[in-house]
Amino acid sequence: NTARTAARTAVVTGAASGIGTATARALAADGARVALLARRTDRLDTLAAEITAAGGRAIAVTADVTDQASVDAAAKAVHDAFGRVDLVVNNAGVMLPNPVAAGRVDEWTRMIDTNLTGVLRVIDAFTADLAAAAADGRPADLVNVSSIASHIAFPDYAVYGATKAAVTQLSAALRTELGPRDVRVSNIEPGLTDTELPHAIDNPELRGQLDGMFQQIPSLTAEDIAELIAFTVSRPKHVNLRHTVILPTRQA
Ligand code: NDP
Repeated sequence: NTARTAARTAVVTGAASGIGTATARALAADGARVALLARRTDRLDTLAAEITAAGGRAIAVTADVTDQASVDAAAKAVHDAFGRVDLVVNNAGVMLPNPVAAGRVDEWTRMIDTNLTGVLRVIDAFTADLAAAAADGRPADLVNVSSIASHIAFPDYAVYGATKAAVTQLSAALRTELGPRDVRVSNIEPGLTDTELPHAIDNPELRGQLDGMFQQIPSLTAEDIAELIAFTVSRPKHVNLRHTVILPTRQA
């Protein structure tokens, strides 16, 4: 991957843990400059220092994708440090399962604002960069991290699944706008992956159910998803892996 990813400038959202951290490491190892976005500044600082110590280039940019002013400020910080971006990984997300009948409007709002509107805010902040890079004949990538939950209905994950179905459809529709401008749009749908995602679940029964799945099925690692993303963006620029489902072998 190294030759093709070298000299690229990437933004990875949700880089404070899990898939985002692993993806930032993988892109940096392939030679990209990487802007690390999330809310936990301490995590981002540690990761930026680690990447820099390994000979890579990274900056920590504290950002909350649910806050338009925060995304605007982050985009400015990225542009000031790195100039034009040509690779965006929209990975920040939250998963807050509960029966719809529980009426958790707080959770619905947070998931929609992070997983869908947050993705749109980041797209809005960097699409002009991607189009400009492509117009210069450079590779340009928008990668959206959706979920297998966009296709398979899991009980009590209705709103999470709805946000991810929206991301999958958004990716497909955006290709019709950006593909003709030589910007690739890639939608990644992971299955069960061992990260901090379950930590925010406040329903003990559903948390226990998910922990049980992790005990039953050898899950994917964040690095498995990161390798897929690094591979996807390192194809020759006329090749767009537009939609990839990646599951643990034992996940039905
Ligand atoms: P993690 O919880 O480890 O990572 C989520 C990341 O998103 C964190 O870095 C978090 O950082 C960041 N984040 C959350 N809210 C915001 C916000 N408002 N603004 C900015 N950043 C935010 O879980 P994963 O690595 O698993 O999740 C990454 C993506 O993968 C998510 O979109 C998830 O839905 C998707 N996914 C995960 C699967 C799995 O099994 N783990 C399966 C399918 C899809 P901070 O809290 O510091 O902001």
